[in-house]
Amino acid sequence: MTTEQLNAELEGQEAETVIRRAWETFGEDLVFATSLAAEDQIITEIIARNRWPIALVTLDTGRLFPETYALLAETERRYGIKIRVFFPDRVQVEEMVAEQGINLFYDRVENRQRCCRVRKIEPLRRALAPYRAWVCGLRREQSVTRTATRVVEHDAANGLVKISPLADWDEQRVWAAIAARQVPYSPLHDQGFRSIGCACCTRAVTRTEGVRSGRWWWEEPEHKECGLHVGTRHPNAEPSTLPGERT
Ligand code: SF4
Repeated sequence: MTTEQLNAELEGQEAETVIRRAWETFGEDLVFATSLAAEDQIITEIIARNRWPIALVTLDTGRLFPETYALLAETERRYGIKIRVFFPDRVQVEEMVAEQGINLFYDRVENRQRCCRVRKIEPLRRALAPYRAWVCGLRREQSVTRTATRVVEHDAANGLVKISPLADWDEQRVWAAIAARQVPYSPLHDQGFRSIGCACCTRAVTRTEGVRSGRWWWEEPEHKECGLHVGTRHPNAEPSTLPGERT
């Protein structure tokens, strides 16, 4: 089966169906990378409720909100799960800060991208390295950089299959699911933070602003990705084979 065939099967399906099928397809080669965002909390609840033994990982950039650490602890306690935390490489962080300062990201887009590479992308690559596929909470309507997100696609940057069970969800549906299932979420969402990343790079926004407009608010919208979700296969690209599977 190809990624395109699996995508064709799962587009429009319920999130639970998508995750179940991903688990059936990849088994222990499947990992869920959670940022503890509201979307990710819904996926965590589905995995925990079904007792699927899918590995959960997250990143600690070293610049997160205190509320995010509290939510991590609360989520593990509530669902009786362990979420493995990956940290940036100490040497890379020390070199970056020595060369460009502790708050380099405010100066230039390139500096911000370097910080995201060091604090997010490199740890994510390490976290994903043992696996063939990963689940994430991307939604198409989150930003102009995510409108082409597919439920199943080839993640060229990380060399594995990326599965986004909530790709076609809108924000209203996310919060309805959070309420219906009493899923724990960051209290920052109730203070106007519609998307939450590092504390120094995230601010509250009004309801009329875009979901991710509070992230790197000093940059243009087309730059607003940390690099975790770039390099996925274009919808019109040639079909690719699922790693380890035959066509
Ligand atoms: Fe660095 Fe900001 Fe990116 Fe966090 S969001 S890794 S602090 S640039």
